[in-house]
Amino acid sequence: QTFEQCGLDGALMGVIKKAGYQKPTPIQAQAIPAALAGRDILGIAKTGSGKTAAFVLPMLVHIMDQPELEKGEGPIGIIVAPTRELSEQIHKETRRFSKPYNLRICAAFGGLSKYDQFKDLKAGAEVAVCTPGRMIDLIKMKACTCKRVTYLVFDEADRMFDMGFEPQVRSIMGQVRPDRQTLLFSATLPNKVDRLVQDALTSPVRVTV
Ligand code: AMP
Repeated sequence: QTFEQCGLDGALMGVIKKAGYQKPTPIQAQAIPAALAGRDILGIAKTGSGKTAAFVLPMLVHIMDQPELEKGEGPIGIIVAPTRELSEQIHKETRRFSKPYNLRICAAFGGLSKYDQFKDLKAGAEVAVCTPGRMIDLIKMKACTCKRVTYLVFDEADRMFDMGFEPQVRSIMGQVRPDRQTLLFSATLPNKVDRLVQDALTSPVRVTV
């Protein structure tokens, strides 16, 4: 299978080639077509599977398809990950793939200035890559409105729950319109993560690698 057969084309194919990705990994081959079709996704996959590109590439297509991209405020895509290290990695990967477009990707996690993040979000970043605690802080500070969010990703959900972030995760979900597209990735599916899937995803396509 090729990335083109997954439904990707144009400028994105250029950056995929440039990244040295010759063909999609199994999670990408299964998740990308479903995500491009607008489906919710439950991905059972570990780091190293290529899951980051599996949710980032369709997100970029989703955002570039928005008719009123220039208007409105607040991010369109939010990616939530448990740790600063993982968020940093996702932020880097998102920036790499968004090169052909004029998109602003805000890094909203600890270790960076909250004030800079506040400014980025206020200035109209279309994507926020965040840790749950920092995202809640920024929402409380009114730096970030969730009213335009239509693509919401939770990565390593099981780890987030192990770290005690279930309330923050549920709070973020509660602030985003219910007709959003939701993608949840987790290495394992313990009961409490499964309950979240039941509560927050709509007829998800389940992808296991
Ligand atoms: P991830 O599981 O998303 O953390 O990705 C693991 C590593 O695989 C990262 O270094 C990616 O850049 C790389 N990678 C992801 N997808 C592909 C692909 N289709 N071909 C080659 N390398 C990839």
